[in-house]
Amino acid sequence: MEVNVNPCAEGSRSRKPKRSPEKWKCNIDKAKRHSAKTLPDPPKCNHKDGALQCKTLKMHEILKFHENFYRSKCKTDQDKFLLKYRNP
Ligand SMILES: [Zn+2]
Repeated sequence: MEVNVNPCAEGSRSRKPKRSPEKWKCNIDKAKRHSAKTLPDPPKCNHKDGALQCKTLKMHEILKFHENFYRSKCKTDQDKFLLKYRNP
């Protein structure tokens, strides 16, 4: 005997609202905590040789880094991002 199984349309079977953790207050607060408050300031020090090259940083590089860092509002992702740029 042939049995046809038709998948039910998404949400048609269940009346239970979908979980949306991104709307939970604790997670909104958490995202806010790991979001940028202001744009970064360029470094005010004058390092330009040796390990620190602060003076040679361009504003667009700083902004790019800032943007990439805050692309995710999850601390774990931000930590992973920093590890990529850490000196060994
Ligand atoms: Zn410096």
